Amino acid sequence: MSLTRAKNFNAGPSALPLSVLQKAAEELVNYQGSGMSVMEMSHRSKEYEAIHNDAKSLLFELLNIPTEYDVLFLQGGASLQFTMVPMNFLKEGKKAAYLMTGAWSEKALAEAKKLGEAYEAASTKNEKYRSIPDIKELTLSPDTAYLHITSNNTIHGTQWHSFPETGNIPLVADMSSDILSRPVDISKFALIYAGAQKNLGPSGVTVVIIRKDSIEEARKDIPTMLRYDIHADKNSLYNTPPAYGIYMLKNVLSWAKDNGGLEGLKELNVKKAALIYDAIDQSNGFYQGHAEKESRSYMNIAFRLANEELEKKFLAEAKNAGFVGLNGHRSVGGCRASAYNAVTYENCLALRDFMLSFQKNN
Ligand SMILES: *Cc1c(COP(=O)(O)O)cnc(C)c1O
Repeated sequence: MSLTRAKNFNAGPSALPLSVLQKAAEELVNYQGSGMSVMEMSHRSKEYEAIHNDAKSLLFELLNIPTEYDVLFLQGGASLQFTMVPMNFLKEGKKAAYLMTGAWSEKALAEAKKLGEAYEAASTKNEKYRSIPDIKELTLSPDTAYLHITSNNTIHGTQWHSFPETGNIPLVADMSSDILSRPVDISKFALIYAGAQKNLGPSGVTVVIIRKDSIEEARKDIPTMLRYDIHADKNSLYNTPPAYGIYMLKNVLSWAKDNGGLEGLKELNVKKAALIYDAIDQSNGFYQGHAEKESRSYMNIAFRLANEELEKKFLAEAKNAGFVGLNGHRSVGGCRASAYNAVTYENCLALRDFMLSFQKNN
């Protein structure tokens, strides 16, 4: 049977590995002889428990997470973490610091300000978030509760390629759009969170990687569902977890393991992004990349054409050629190609070729 798949460059939710979708289809109505879909199972059953714990141990293995950390599966997306982080850690007399590198950092800071005192530790807003701040040594106020960073800026197409040293101040990262795309030294972070729908699976599950001493420090006098310690104590089974999403996450992680792990995925992601950046760089200004070169993201490639009319034409012709999701975020316009883990090299090559021929004809 021939299978027509879109050349999917969506920013999120985004492409999933075909083999993962096919496995899910095979197991949809009868998961491993159970006579049930994973969606129909008790979240307290042995079958589900195995899926849940496999997803967790695959994350530990692939991301090389040290034993002094725990992994949680929560709901509410990365956006609820904008609230949960300050609610748990921004205590009376402390301030939260935020590194401002785009629209998602702004949203995270805005939530913190509703709950306590928060300040901007650095910002590239004046440069339209084209770059990552150059930080060798950050000076943070000693009463800083934590420093929040957005590792990859999905909308502006920039990415931190190394992380600041924060000494005793806990580093918290929103890694929604680049988790699992490259090796990261987890031990630098007190907490990492990521909505699943970019690199990890379908929307509905949020992965939180949290150091155990931070769990102990987190507030206990806040609503139960917003307490990290409760979810950690109950192995993310305090209430019904997003079970099907966690099942899909497990399958995506198995796929990642079979595809070279983080080293292998990074190598491929760099090559994929280079195809598109090269088309931009060699276009004599026909395509203009948004990000400055040293801050470029391997996941989201944001670019513009000479004017909106030409951009409209580009997007319309790309659509006819089978490309999906190349429009920029509604807040910034232009074009954006999101080349997450599951986006194939072949599709990036096809996009590069399309860009070259569009330039030639225009
Ligand atoms: C997509 C995204 C979010 C928002 O995620 P939700 O799961 O929709 O809340 C937050 N931060 C970053 C960096 C993102 O890419």
